[in-house]
Amino acid sequence: MGEFELIARHFTRASRSARPAVALGVGDDCALLQPAPGQQLAISTDMLVEGRHFLSTVAPERLGHKALAVNLSDLAACGAEPLGCTLALALPRADESFVAPFARGLFALADAHGIELVGGDTTAGPLNICITVFGQVPVGQALLRSGARPGDELWVSGRTLGDARLALEVFRGTQALPGADFETVRRAMETPQPRVALGLALRGVASSAIDISDGLLGDLGHVLRRSGVGAVVQVDALPRSAVLAAQPLALQHECLLAGGDDYELLFTAPAVLHAAVLAAGERAGTAVTCCGHIEAAPGLRVVDASGAAVATPWRSFDHFQ
Ligand code: ADP
Ligand code: MG
Repeated sequence: MGEFELIARHFTRASRSARPAVALGVGDDCALLQPAPGQQLAISTDMLVEGRHFLSTVAPERLGHKALAVNLSDLAACGAEPLGCTLALALPRADESFVAPFARGLFALADAHGIELVGGDTTAGPLNICITVFGQVPVGQALLRSGARPGDELWVSGRTLGDARLALEVFRGTQALPGADFETVRRAMETPQPRVALGLALRGVASSAIDISDGLLGDLGHVLRRSGVGAVVQVDALPRSAVLAAQPLALQHECLLAGGDDYELLFTAPAVLHAAVLAAGERAGTAVTCCGHIEAAPGLRVVDASGAAVATPWRSFDHFQ
């Protein structure tokens, strides 16, 4: 199978986009996107490299899902509505048994969010997946990292923070889990759900937002630096699965606070909007949990339910350190 046959067979679909924003998709030199009047384009790129971002053991269908999910998660964190995406793919071989399920996983998530693959590039090389997503957000309404203010409450989405990290530790051999529990946390690692509906519901409610890709503390640090504020995190309030809750406390803390690959939204909102945040979670069908607050004094403190300081010896993930 050649390059063009592969593109035609697996990455080209009769245009079925419900999005009027996609004026032209795969097949020409450029795709054409038309955001609605009064909206800004929101653009984000995430690359997935084998051995770095995913293990060779992952099923191709899940890999297709995750490659798009981590990108949609960035749109979610900005409160942007997804329109389309491009896919730049380097493949060692034109291997149908990989490409077909990979495309299936990617398109299933694309369809769940009503977006189309509008273009890309396909080349031979070590397995590497780079997706760019395009979204739209009304001018001035994007959720940014820079908007947290003293007195704001700190919130996190979802119920299974830290599961992806627990799965990674099992793959690394530092932890062991019964088979069914391993499958549960492995699913969290391999098929994260981007919180797009929540991001949209939080427009005009949240003061800042970020998605958790490198661990809660590291990602919160980005918000605090951009906003020029500090924060207190209540570790006992952080939502966790029954599987994680059954682990030793130190491991729970590491997975919750320094895990990564969660793709939950971490956001702030004025305390007077507490009920509005809960309503946004309801509208989006996504759990939201208040887990701390923002302070004027810089710094990041983690405390337990009794108010005692919790040690946080981990460093945030950095590709070059
Ligand atoms: P060009 O030579 O102009 O770069 P290509 O030959 O690389 O174009 O691609 C032909 C068409 O197929 C273009 O519209 C491109 O966007 C699309 N395309 C290539 N690879 C992919 C892919 N992996 N997924 C989706 N579309 C793709
Ligand atoms: Mg090209």
